[in-house]
Amino acid sequence: MPVSLCAESIKKHFPTRSGELAVLRDVSLTLDAGESAAIMGPSGSGKSTLLNILGTLDTPTAGTVTIDGKNPFELDERELARFRNQRIGFVFQDQHLLPQCCVLENVLLATLVTRGGNDATERARRLLDRVGLSDRLKHLPAELSGGERQRVAIARALINNPTLVLADEPTGNLDQTTADSIASLLSEVHRDENVTLLVVTHSRPLAERFERRFDVADGTLVELEGA
Ligand code: ADP
Ligand code: MG
Repeated sequence: MPVSLCAESIKKHFPTRSGELAVLRDVSLTLDAGESAAIMGPSGSGKSTLLNILGTLDTPTAGTVTIDGKNPFELDERELARFRNQRIGFVFQDQHLLPQCCVLENVLLATLVTRGGNDATERARRLLDRVGLSDRLKHLPAELSGGERQRVAIARALINNPTLVLADEPTGNLDQTTADSIASLLSEVHRDENVTLLVVTHSRPLAERFERRFDVADGTLVELEGA
């Protein structure tokens, strides 16, 4: 299997009023194409910081990230935006949907840059059908439940056929039953859409759905053995 995502010796320090805060000290991680993994760890341990760096939304203080064999931080700003848009799908805890746009439009937004055209609309409809929302295409985010909004976010993350999907506590704000259904959906989507999936979660049952599990501890990443 080709390597999808490779992080080597990532460090991240934040300047604060009381000096430098070393959040990530030395993080390395390699995921093969199509693998799924969960990152666990206590609140404030640097999980979101790491996911943002792997997703090229933030830069590391030191270390390298390689996605599909390319170092995205060598690209200029425009190329990086394009790279991110085409290769990486994001699912956040709070969805980040545009409130004035309907479900279908929210999923299609990411294709405006790449000019998806009619094919994009077809794909958006297929993905929304896949996540169980085909009868909600014209609804606004405020007219949906938290779980339904997360389904929209999952469809949106997949619209540009990314190779890598990053999810930051995707079930964090959901009740148990809804969280379970989103967890099932994520693992089905991972199987069907041929993506590498990395999920940050506090939930052990969610983490156990994936092939590999890691713990962020003291600024490093430790792979947990077994299921
Ligand atoms: P987690 O997602 O594991 O809860 P985060 O990655 O959000 O943790 O944050 C890890 C630590 O880094 C926290 O102590 C947080 O306060 C700090 N941090 C995150 N972003 C910044 C920033 N932009 N400036 C300063 N400190 C930050
Ligand atoms: Mg976080």
